[in-house]
Amino acid sequence: MKTLMAAAMAIVSVLWFSTSGEADDKDAKTIQLDGKVVPLAGVLEKFGSRLDAEAAPHWLALVTDNGKVYPLIKDDGSRLFFAEPHLQNRSMRVTGRLFQDTHLLQVLSVNSVKNGQLFEIYYWCDICSIRRNELLKKCDCCGGPMELREEPVKK
Ligand SMILES: [Zn+2]
Repeated sequence: MKTLMAAAMAIVSVLWFSTSGEADDKDAKTIQLDGKVVPLAGVLEKFGSRLDAEAAPHWLALVTDNGKVYPLIKDDGSRLFFAEPHLQNRSMRVTGRLFQDTHLLQVLSVNSVKNGQLFEIYYWCDICSIRRNELLKKCDCCGGPMELREEPVKK
């Protein structure tokens, strides 16, 4: 019975991925951008516009190396930049999705860039030796502290 359930769930997830894949082609495109994530409020100020004070903490934007501005959709993918302000204003390579002709960027994955070298960013529990890509205040295995790590991407 358990295997049957697992098989059914596998089929469902395959169907789900294939249908969402179709939607991607039509409404979204995946792109890779190099730049820095900064508070959107600062970017808007340069254009003479201002975010309400209560909105400002919820908006970050990727400013690419060639000066394009992509406000980040605040979700699982971009949460890292809200939770870890020291990752803002640093060279990053962001893979994300753009929807139709909006400039809103959904972050799918992030690598930091130092001296031309790409780094993986992840959370690590020393006790369990497990890594998580998602921000967790405590390890979901032992309940211990998770630390943010950056390691060179292996070639
Ligand atoms: Zn742990």
